Amino acid sequence: RFVPSEKIIEQRESLPTFEYRNDLIEAIKEYSVLVIIGETGSGKTTQIPQYILEGIPEMKKIGVTQPRRIAAITVAKRVSEEQGVRLGSTVGYTIRFDDTTSSDTKLKYMTDGVLLREATEDPHLNQYSVVVIDEAHERTLETDVLFGLLKKTQRLRPDLKILIMSATLDVEKFSDFFDECPIFEIPGRTFPVDITYYKDAQRLSALKSNLVDHAVEAAWHIHTQERAGDVLVFLTGQNDIERACRAFQDRVNKINRHEDYKKVVRYYDQIEKVMVYPLYASLETYDQKAVFEGSRKGVRKIVFATNVAQTSVTIPGIRYVIDSGFVKEKTYDANTGMDALLVTEISQAAATQRAGRAGRTAPGKAYRLYTSDSFDHMLPDTIPEIQRSSLLGTILSLKKMGIVDVINFEFIDPPDEKLVRNALKQLYLLGAIDDVGKLTPLGDKMSHFPLSPSLARVLVSSAEEYECSYEVLTIASILAGENDLFRAPSPRSRGGPEAVIEAEECKLRFAHHAGDHMTYLNVWHEWKRHNKSRTWCKENWINSKVLETAANVRRQLMDVMENKTRLPIKRAPRLSTKSSKKSTNKKIMIGVDEKGRQIDPVPILKSFLSGYFTNIANKGANRAVFSHYSPDQHLTEGMTAEVNDFTGSPTSLVALHLHPLCSFSDMLDRNRIRYSELDWVMYMHV
Ligand code: ADP
Ligand code: MG
Repeated sequence: RFVPSEKIIEQRESLPTFEYRNDLIEAIKEYSVLVIIGETGSGKTTQIPQYILEGIPEMKKIGVTQPRRIAAITVAKRVSEEQGVRLGSTVGYTIRFDDTTSSDTKLKYMTDGVLLREATEDPHLNQYSVVVIDEAHERTLETDVLFGLLKKTQRLRPDLKILIMSATLDVEKFSDFFDECPIFEIPGRTFPVDITYYKDAQRLSALKSNLVDHAVEAAWHIHTQERAGDVLVFLTGQNDIERACRAFQDRVNKINRHEDYKKVVRYYDQIEKVMVYPLYASLETYDQKAVFEGSRKGVRKIVFATNVAQTSVTIPGIRYVIDSGFVKEKTYDANTGMDALLVTEISQAAATQRAGRAGRTAPGKAYRLYTSDSFDHMLPDTIPEIQRSSLLGTILSLKKMGIVDVINFEFIDPPDEKLVRNALKQLYLLGAIDDVGKLTPLGDKMSHFPLSPSLARVLVSSAEEYECSYEVLTIASILAGENDLFRAPSPRSRGGPEAVIEAEECKLRFAHHAGDHMTYLNVWHEWKRHNKSRTWCKENWINSKVLETAANVRRQLMDVMENKTRLPIKRAPRLSTKSSKKSTNKKIMIGVDEKGRQIDPVPILKSFLSGYFTNIANKGANRAVFSHYSPDQHLTEGMTAEVNDFTGSPTSLVALHLHPLCSFSDMLDRNRIRYSELDWVMYMHV
């Protein structure tokens, strides 16, 4: 333990929550459920759990949920610093596939998904004295399910303290749900934010397809025309953000001479330098501490961020906000029965939150890249995720907890009954529940894997039926990550359009005729053959981080397999024992293991079919490959059997990822397979 710096102590004491410290502790001691509301940045997430830690020492473990992994990590790091302890000792975080906590941990930040998973293993949540559901206003699927579960848990464990923390005013709903529990309001200190709408509706519709350029333009305007203060730009995803950063940096780099700078930047005497940062919820930015550090005099920060900066993490020094008006959101497609991330218009509530980020420390300005008319037409509030998600995983968890009647489960905003019925039907087809809706032994095994039920089913089948779990574990580990295995340069990036072609050609060199799953396996084996070299990855346009993460995920999934479900780990059959010609270092080997032996793809593909049979289409004569079965016209049991009995050569089946590594026709061409030769086609979402 080391002593926190003066600066940290001072900062902690300056936060709005600080003066309510004792009142908060008293309220927490008195009530078993408490709703706490306070502006973003007031100190809810970082401070209140510490007040409990310091003020109610008899409490056992405090668990705090965050909807986003990046928030769980940055907050835990910050709080351990404030406590003067090493991360992973008294303070730690747990996210899926990454647990930093130890037996000493008293304050644990985690994603809501992690707590949900813990609740499936122990519905009483016995290890915790306090459970904090933070950022409740985000209304993620997991948070909503936790609400219902906690209400149950509380009846079983009256000693459990439940705190619901939210940044928006609309908290009556939470209080009503928990039998009108008290609401503790922390008065905010916010400054007025001046809002400017985009006025030219016509030009706007032309710009819509080019949101990134539009946002960069606005950021450049602020940088050159407005006084000192950092800028936060809300965009929708990693690619857009990277592009925006490059485009902005390019403009900065064009100005070489100081005299020119003085001509372009109006307040050049206040702003000597500009720094550009991306911020999105993926591994690379976890350690971007600089974004979260206070602003330095003479340096203007420009942060291009996803929604993560809306309420979950606070970036100090922001005076200007640029709001694109869009967000990438989970959206359920009832036709395919799958979730997709789609760029969607934000709600008015979200727009207000975004603008508010500019008024944290001084009066600010928000530029909305849409007209006031479009603002009026936005939904007042964001639709809770539970009403627009596939409920497959959720319902499997509920079943595992012994909740049989999921249709009448107490949800704060119940999902459409049709969504629940679809999920039940799919679980039944996957063999996870029986015809009276009870969890089957297979479903029980599936529920132990921190994966989607479909992917969990694939793993179980690969072990129990097809004897190839060793390879399937590898493929599943890569699929479980959320980033693309292959790097895709944009035509505007450094290498230009040539880089795009090079990367595409590179992917093709790994392509396996049986589809993307086997292609992933190829990449894995080649990576191992090249001693997991990052240079090799770079040369081949492969994201080394995805493979490194997959290796870690694989170990954990293997542990579940061996120790929790007791499933056998077996290697897929090899087609020939004769090792093919001594492989040269340069040549990429297709369809072989580390030792150069051919792997039989059939059992591997069959395993995938068992979990994703809803994604398979019987091609028939010249019928569309991409036709699919909507949940209402599911494969009948007979058809499922037919698929499972499939014994043809691998060429009569092509497994195709929807995130195509290489285009479908390219893959066929390369392997001299005619489209008309295919019997079945399968595709997958990640
Ligand atoms: P809330 O949960 O109410 O939005 P937080 O507890 O997340 O507020 O943050 C309170 C304040 O702590 C922020 O305004 C910021 O100044 C500071 N802070 C939070 N996280 C960090 C960090 N990683 N580094 C530096 N300061 C931070
Ligand atoms: Mg917070």
